[in-house]
Amino acid sequence: MLNVDLHCHSIISDGTLAPAALAARAKANGVDVWALTDHDEVSGIGEARAAARGLDLRFVAGVEISITWAGQTVHIVGLGIDEHCAALTQGLAGIRDGRTARGQAIAAQLADVGIHDAFAGALKYADNAKLIGRTHFARYIVELGLVGNISDVFRHFLVAGKPGYLPHRWASLEQSVSWIRAAGGRAVIAHPGRYQLEPLAFDALLDTFVQLGGEGIEVVTGSHTPDQYGLYAKVAKQSGLLASRGSDFHGPAESRADLGSLPPLPAGVTPVWHDWVG
Ligand code: AMP
Ligand code: MN
Ligand code: MN
Ligand code: MN
Repeated sequence: MLNVDLHCHSIISDGTLAPAALAARAKANGVDVWALTDHDEVSGIGEARAAARGLDLRFVAGVEISITWAGQTVHIVGLGIDEHCAALTQGLAGIRDGRTARGQAIAAQLADVGIHDAFAGALKYADNAKLIGRTHFARYIVELGLVGNISDVFRHFLVAGKPGYLPHRWASLEQSVSWIRAAGGRAVIAHPGRYQLEPLAFDALLDTFVQLGGEGIEVVTGSHTPDQYGLYAKVAKQSGLLASRGSDFHGPAESRADLGSLPPLPAGVTPVWHDWVG
């Protein structure tokens, strides 16, 4: 069975490895088909594709788009995209624009609880300053020794109701799916088990996503428990969605799942890659 990993991050967004290093790690871990899916940015794809080619590793160009749905942040992965498509690149540029001001507002909130200079501190971890985000702040908070690791940061800071969080308007669902489709890609709902949506809002997300031409949903991801693999396999079948598998790897020191390390998809679902690879 093919080892397919269709979700991970490089230093272009909030990962800690360069695209070429991720390709090498995927290959070393036995991955056969690999996608790079940086947040809201496609500029790592050229390096990733070239590195994958040199390793005889099958590559899928991807992106993970931040959207707002029912007042919450949801992520939509695009797979098999043409990263040069203007509708996609211009749309992504629009989302990235808001990150600097948001980062400054996060830093101001952290200053109120005694964590000073957090914008500069987070920036040290953001190779791509335009993509500054909560993971970079989390690394700085760990550096200060306030909590032991990134997961603990997200229990005490940077989430709703805690210091360093503010609601943010990302793209709409409709925009994200239309950009991905314009770029010839397949839209996939990322890590559905992570959202705190009311059941009605989640059902509406699925319905609207399908109506807009969305095609897949992540079933096996580093963000899901084994129980959730089964639950979202059922959701995929009921909604007529293709199933995806991806580690959501961000770096060796931080991620729950390494590239290519997760179990295969449950039986009975149609893999999102079913018509790409034999
Ligand atoms: P942002 O795009 O700035 O809102 O940051 C979102 C990123 O923060 C996600 O892509 C994850 O990398 C990270 N993140 C969010 N929640 C958690 C969590 N509970 N544990 C670890 N990382 C998280
Ligand atoms: Mn991330
Ligand atoms: Mn995500
Ligand atoms: Mn991700």
